[in-house]
Amino acid sequence: MPTGSVIVVGAGAFGGWTALALLRAGCRRVKLVDAWGPGNSRSSSGDETRVIRGCYGPNAVYTQMVARALPMWRENEQRWGVRLLEPAGALWMGNGAYERAAMRCLREAELPFEEVSAAEGRARWPQMNWDGIEGAVYEPEGGFLYARRACEAVMRAVVAEGGEYVQQQADVTSLAALGEADHYVIAGGPWLGAMFPDIARVTATRQEVFYFGTPAGDARFDERHFPAWVDNSGPPRFYGIPGNEWRGFKAAMDVPGVPLDPSLVDRTPSPAALEQAREFLARRFPALAGAPVVEHRVCQYEMSPDGDLIVDRHPRRANVWLVGGGSGHGFKLGPALGEMAAQMVLSLDAVRAEFGLARFADGAGGGVGERK
Ligand SMILES: Cc1cc2nc3c(=O)[nH]c(=O)nc-3n(C[C@H](O)[C@H](O)[C@H](O)COP(=O)(O)OP(=O)(O)OC[C@H]3O[C@@H](n4cnc5c(N)ncnc54)[C@H](O)[C@@H]3O)c2cc1C
Repeated sequence: MPTGSVIVVGAGAFGGWTALALLRAGCRRVKLVDAWGPGNSRSSSGDETRVIRGCYGPNAVYTQMVARALPMWRENEQRWGVRLLEPAGALWMGNGAYERAAMRCLREAELPFEEVSAAEGRARWPQMNWDGIEGAVYEPEGGFLYARRACEAVMRAVVAEGGEYVQQQADVTSLAALGEADHYVIAGGPWLGAMFPDIARVTATRQEVFYFGTPAGDARFDERHFPAWVDNSGPPRFYGIPGNEWRGFKAAMDVPGVPLDPSLVDRTPSPAALEQAREFLARRFPALAGAPVVEHRVCQYEMSPDGDLIVDRHPRRANVWLVGGGSGHGFKLGPALGEMAAQMVLSLDAVRAEFGLARFADGAGGGVGERK
């Protein structure tokens, strides 16, 4: 074992799972540090729930990661006795080139799915208006994850399995102040860009999420009667999660918003975003037209320039690692991402070019991705 000690900064989905994977890989001393706590309301892993599905268009690497992560979510929820995964199913609506490629990747990854025609969809989920949707991909093993609860559960597992958790703000220019360690993993989520402005190129973008109240006594919009969903028939793309443990029917637009400072931004929702969500809801779920907002969140995506993950060594500091770039789709990957990052830090695996920082050299990496 070449590495005895690692300090991980950031107890969100990425840092938490990386710390746990380091311990499970035999790392002797692991300290997890967070300024505000796992799944806190400023973090990208905050809020109640996140969609998990393997439908990723032609991006086979992520479908494979979901195939790895799904059983890990299940194993750990069993081990901890904490509900983390709601297997409500995941419904991706659209039937273009993206969906055809996704189905090839799902088949290769052996993730079960059904191709659903609009007529079948109408019969199966009549609470949704299928106008403008030509077909869908339904994953019966998909669904949603209890996000902030999972971050806390992972942190508690880190401590239970021999690691340490400390609430502390890290200064990435003087990491030794956190304690001596062989390696430092910086999983700063939407803060990563400000921490390493010349290297990480992660932008925190404003995302508004609304929980709408369903009609009294009406169970059609809970997780037993409707799956987690992404409507890719737009643009713009919308997505949502049913039930959320009786918190309401969640709906949000999946388009990166304006940049923000995740430490300081006021998280009051904007009338414009609410109006867009209401308009979409009335059209797609007519029974929810005019439904009251019962909860809301203002969160942020942590967009890398191409929407792909970042897992790499700092180019000038050999014992500093950057892990992030979840770009609005990373939560579900947590266990698989953590395992991958831990293997790299422990030199058991090489850095993978598709997640490497070199792809941003000379401004490469394309525009802002908008993968969900
Ligand atoms: C609205 C929204 C919807 C999304 N939907 C989905 C979805 O449906 N499915 C999906 O898979 N993914 C989804 N995502 C993406 C996913 O949630 C993120 O990719 C993932 O949570 C990122 O985790 P992270 O650990 O990188 O970042 P974070 O969770 O933000 O963790 C970073 C942590 O670092 C800490 N920190 C920051 N600075 C310091 C410092 N100086 N010192 C110490 N600690 C510090 C913060 O407190 C924070 O806890 C969504 C994201 C948003 C915002």
